Amino acid sequence: MGIDKRSGPPELCIVVPCYNEEEVLPEAQSRLLNELSALVADGLVNNASHILFVDDGSKDQTWSLIENASRTEPQVRGLKLSRNRGHQTAVLAGLLEGQGDIFISIDADLQDDITAIRQMVISHIEDGTDVVYGVRAGRSSDTAFKRFTAEGYYRLLSALGVEIVFNHADYRLMSQRAISALGEYREVHLFLRGLVPLIGFKTATIEYDRSERFAGESKYPLRKMLSLAWEGVTSFSAKPLRIISIAGIVISMLAFLGALAAIWASLTGGTVEGWASLVVAVAILGGIQLLAIGLIGEYLGKIYNEVKARPRYFVDKIVGDESQTLDD
Ligand code: UDP
Ligand code: MG
Repeated sequence: MGIDKRSGPPELCIVVPCYNEEEVLPEAQSRLLNELSALVADGLVNNASHILFVDDGSKDQTWSLIENASRTEPQVRGLKLSRNRGHQTAVLAGLLEGQGDIFISIDADLQDDITAIRQMVISHIEDGTDVVYGVRAGRSSDTAFKRFTAEGYYRLLSALGVEIVFNHADYRLMSQRAISALGEYREVHLFLRGLVPLIGFKTATIEYDRSERFAGESKYPLRKMLSLAWEGVTSFSAKPLRIISIAGIVISMLAFLGALAAIWASLTGGTVEGWASLVVAVAILGGIQLLAIGLIGEYLGKIYNEVKARPRYFVDKIVGDESQTLDD
């Protein structure tokens, strides 16, 4: 990992994670190839630049589409993971296994405006940025519910001290050395949006409009989204644990005051009303305790997974990349 001594335009690798994307793939491919050719023609990137489709264990025709494309289009390469590992891991695999001087990750459904690719590349060339974040200018294509929860989530993360870029999904440019740095983070629980800002180097943001998925369905149902959100909190902040400690202190102090009041009452001849107050106190405390134990358990489970340090993915096949297929 060193300072870039390259001369001439960089080799760009566009990493596209795909999970059951047969409906969108041909269109995505032709749009991206057009954009790429324009960049090559304008001398912004060199002609070794290419698209790397990462098949994340799709169950439809995605991989055969990629394989066919790699035969007919010299600028298309494919990487097949051994099974479905999830969006974050698929992106990581593409970045770590791919070749190039700069990498741009973008979703297969092209919800992210691909004209921002050019701006990202220009930012890298002119300002020497190592990371360029694509940031949504608006969220008009999202439901009100998604906008509201996204907003709340960003607030929560920053309150917990996690640094992330507001309105940035995983559409970004990274230089080779930023990716080498990313590769040093060995965590199994991946949340790239939280990891990339930790790397440092010179960064920039580019605004773009996000549109609807043009075909197929979202592969990110609410359940997966919540789990990614939870990942973001627990992988980057131990503050929730601090919060339960503080809650414990506060509750202990209240309990102490309550005890004093009860003793005082009985010494002065009065008694505190019994059943209801007891049940309420026991129920509330029981709930809080279970919550606290559950939270500790969440972190424990995470430690369990990280300590095992299982491999994050296996590459099944690579197509379209001569330098790699010759070695086999
Ligand atoms: N994806 C993936 N593995 C998965 C789920 C999704 O590689 O297990 C890919 C998917 O093909 C797409 C990107 O991740 O290119 C984002 O998924 P999607 O568009 O369904 O999510 P949304 O935009 O609705 O959040
Ligand atoms: Mg999408």
